[in-house]
Amino acid sequence: MSSSSPLFVAAPQQARLPYPYRPEVDVVEAALATLQGQLDWAQVIRTGRPWVQAVRDKPAPFWAMESLLREYPISSAEGLALMRLAEALLRVPDVETAIALTADQLGRAEFDADAVVDGPHKMLAGISASAISLSKKFLPGADGEGGLLSRLGAKTVVAATVRAIQLLGRQFVLGRTIAEAMEEAQDQRKDMESARRGSANAASGLRFSYDMLGEGARTEHDAERYLASYGNAIQAISRGQVAASPETADGISIKLSALFSRYEDGQRERVFAELLPRVWSLIELAASANLNLTIDAEETDRLELSLDVLDALAARIAATFPKWTGFGLAVQAYQTRALQVVEAVAEIARRHKLRFMVRLVKGAYWDGEIKRAQEGGLTGYPVFTHKEHTDISYLACARALIAHADVIYPQFATHNAGTIAAILQMARAKGAAFEMQRLHGMGEGVYREVMKDPTVACRVYAPVGEHRDLLAYLVRRLLENGANSSFVHQLADNTVDVERLLASPMTNARPPAFPMPAYLYPVDHGLQRRNSTGADLAVLADRAPLDAAVAATVVPQIREATTEDVITAMVKLDDGFAAWNERPVNERAAIIRRAGDLLDARLAEFCGLLVKEAHKTLGDCVAEVREAVDFCRYYADQAQIRLQDQTLPGPTGESNELRMHGRGVFVCISPWNFPLAIFAGQVVAALVAGNTVAAKPAEQTPAVAARMVELLHEAGVPKDALTLLHGPGETIGASLTANLHCAGVCFTGSTQVAKIIQRTLAHKDGPIVPFIAETGGLNAMIVDSSALPEQVVDAVVQSAFRSAGQRCSALRLLVVHGSIADGVIEMVRGALAELNVGDPARLSTDVGPVIDDEAYINVTRNVGRLKKEARLLGEAKVNSDFPRLVAPVAFELGSIADLKEEIFGPVLHVVRWNGDVDQVMHDINELGYGLTLGIQTRIDSRAQRLAKLAKVGNVYINRNMIGAVVGVQPFGGEGLSGTGPKAGGPHYLFRFCAEQTLTVNTAAAGGNAALLAGESGGH
Ligand SMILES: Cc1cc2nc3c(=O)[nH]c(=O)nc-3n(C[C@H](O)[C@H](O)[C@H](O)COP(=O)(O)OP(=O)(O)OC[C@H]3O[C@@H](n4cnc5c(N)ncnc54)[C@H](O)[C@@H]3O)c2cc1C
Repeated sequence: MSSSSPLFVAAPQQARLPYPYRPEVDVVEAALATLQGQLDWAQVIRTGRPWVQAVRDKPAPFWAMESLLREYPISSAEGLALMRLAEALLRVPDVETAIALTADQLGRAEFDADAVVDGPHKMLAGISASAISLSKKFLPGADGEGGLLSRLGAKTVVAATVRAIQLLGRQFVLGRTIAEAMEEAQDQRKDMESARRGSANAASGLRFSYDMLGEGARTEHDAERYLASYGNAIQAISRGQVAASPETADGISIKLSALFSRYEDGQRERVFAELLPRVWSLIELAASANLNLTIDAEETDRLELSLDVLDALAARIAATFPKWTGFGLAVQAYQTRALQVVEAVAEIARRHKLRFMVRLVKGAYWDGEIKRAQEGGLTGYPVFTHKEHTDISYLACARALIAHADVIYPQFATHNAGTIAAILQMARAKGAAFEMQRLHGMGEGVYREVMKDPTVACRVYAPVGEHRDLLAYLVRRLLENGANSSFVHQLADNTVDVERLLASPMTNARPPAFPMPAYLYPVDHGLQRRNSTGADLAVLADRAPLDAAVAATVVPQIREATTEDVITAMVKLDDGFAAWNERPVNERAAIIRRAGDLLDARLAEFCGLLVKEAHKTLGDCVAEVREAVDFCRYYADQAQIRLQDQTLPGPTGESNELRMHGRGVFVCISPWNFPLAIFAGQVVAALVAGNTVAAKPAEQTPAVAARMVELLHEAGVPKDALTLLHGPGETIGASLTANLHCAGVCFTGSTQVAKIIQRTLAHKDGPIVPFIAETGGLNAMIVDSSALPEQVVDAVVQSAFRSAGQRCSALRLLVVHGSIADGVIEMVRGALAELNVGDPARLSTDVGPVIDDEAYINVTRNVGRLKKEARLLGEAKVNSDFPRLVAPVAFELGSIADLKEEIFGPVLHVVRWNGDVDQVMHDINELGYGLTLGIQTRIDSRAQRLAKLAKVGNVYINRNMIGAVVGVQPFGGEGLSGTGPKAGGPHYLFRFCAEQTLTVNTAAAGGNAALLAGESGGH
């Protein structure tokens, strides 16, 4: 369906909005200033109190959800079980897995039906309680065996649980199809009309905005399906009503991520070329029918892009449908830039002489935004960290929307009685036209009261879809209703008094509720390790310096060492050892920490070098520099914490101490795939432990290493403690490891080269030295049928193809349950087709080239072989003439044992499994490697058991399996994958140290003076 129509062309990105990571207090104070004198909060309470009271006095059956979640909060085992089942059970196709999942989740919860008073809640709890008792009887364990009776019983339990989840889901869906939903809407409208009969305005005031449910698109096929479903819905809505105006008519809400799998800032050109024509086709339908089409607000990293999209669409609307006032979008008040978004939207409307419908929401992705900022080491949070700050921002945005009433029809979406009362007060004071909005299944109680005022109109956001499509939406709503801070949750809690419930949020701005991403890690032994600083590539201010550095970088030539250089360097480093080793550990740590800080400040410069020399994509470069910074800071802290002299217990009259020191000259040999992070990690670990270091980088990437060595010298590492020796492994590597002064080797690379080094060390005269080897893997991901295919495919694409598959942690073997394999494979194929393979310097590139010609020849030869031996499942397109690009590709194999060797490139193997999942794990172990493993299942006990059975170093459950974070996921494997200890873990530094115990007979000089003085009786 991809369109080559030049309807829309992307302009270069400009920053329309301020920096998102400004101090929260400043942003909130600015918002508060706009509300000065705007609101009489005592009046807000007077308005809201009777609503709250009425709802509490007459709880309707639709309260079930709120009270259910109050009974079983999402923080409890029961609440969590409910949410997990709601998220997964309905999509599981095979009975065995459904039984295992139900037993696993229900087995850990204690639902008590008798404690529950009334309503569907009682029924849900009852079903759950009987399911529990049945499950206790029939389900011996999540994956346990059972006889016929037990299987029959288990099926009954599962059927009852499915029924309970369907009941839960039904509260949030208006209909399974648009026709069913419209019928239901009509009934609700009639009810409202009769409730209002007798008042001056007998119109129901009830409007609907339909939402077609589903996960975001991962493939073109998904996008086509959503486009058709939105199109059908618009046509059905327009057939069902004669719309006088979009404001009073029913309309539709659309998600751009459903219409295009790559709705991302990095894909601007494709967004304009491919997504916008699709949106335009829906706009044509909606505008012709004169109804409202609103674009939902999604994650923050699309915020700037969404304004550009709005602007481009508005320009075309102005030219084609200048009179149409039904185009709209949602604005999230929890954004620190929310007020400026409102201003930008008003400016766009005014410039194009249009009127928009703007839905103001607080925002549904708060937890995800906080996590993304922490993971990315961003300089702050893009959303507020206090609920009251979001409430303040909401009111400030509401005021701004009302002030722009000439170009904006404000739609206030909230279930919060205090917010509703405040909005009514502000809007009426200005005489502005507006409507309220709520989600179907939420806020019915409050709106039943609010709507008694016949001048209030309310639009219901009405999800439409089958049960399977509901799951992600349902979980969002469960979280929303279950969160302690949420209004609906507190409304259902009679212990929260009305005053507190309706209290004004407009108090002083408070400092952030939790530490900034830089201060994520807790203080350990008095040391606060700062998180490395990342960059938000969707924010121009963060990205521009990186782009500039890439453009300006010329990779310098690094002189190759000779074998004579090696001999000279090793003597020099051996001479330098004593002085460096004698420096107190805190002093060495301070130097390494300083190096980390210098590197942190030079993110752009190092990204430039990494792109140009190692051909890594910008995102990968940022992650790599951050990892190197983390290594410096982490090992500096670890040295201070773990390498200090320790007093040991012993008999009286004697003192005992354990001391650590360096071993001598360490040889560090690193690979090209992480030319900065692995290089720096090895070198700084060896240095901080007191060793001097001969560092040999990969032949392909000496410039990054040379720059890092300069930086370490700048930070204070003496010249005779660290030398770079660039050259081939066969000569330089070999003479370094064979050198008499070599007191230890730290190596990352292939198993084959590790074996050569091991033999060299074995043949060397002199002491037996430590050898730390980190080698390859045949990494697998096991997927059962409770996993979410979309999540699986995201994880597969990131793990198998990012960095062109050139990571030792990369996914090589996807082992997927037979019952969902076809669907997952189809989605992987679709996702492969969406990958951009090309120049790594371009932000839009997902997959860059392989490192050199040798790698290219090797990978393409293997792909050629697989094309003959295995079933080709899918392959990406290469539309670029950048050298050495290999199209990411997936093949199906007959069995796990058919996978023989690690292909270091973007090549994925897929195997189907059926039967015993433990056997699958056993077969993976049999491959002999043990680096990373992914497990995708919602059966917690199964995930834990598989992790125990796995002979691998890093196990990742329900996520991707790359990008181990220093100090968080210490990295390294076993078996053919390496010797350990794990890099970035608490045991790493010891391997670089020699130990000494010092025992002093304190009673030697005649007697035990301390004991006689009564000071010590031992220990
Ligand atoms: C008609 C309609 C359409 C919607 N469309 C969208 C949409 O397009 N995009 C979207 O993202 N959401 C959308 N939502 C969901 C909406 O964001 C939530 O329903 C809403 O946030 C709940 O707010 P409330 O005023 O009802 O409840 P309240 O309980 O008053 O507010 C809860 C909200 O406060 C915020 N919050 C909670 N804790 C904190 C904290 N510690 N710090 C800062 N803020 C916090 C969160 O945004 C949370 O959702 C829509 C909602 C409705 C009613």
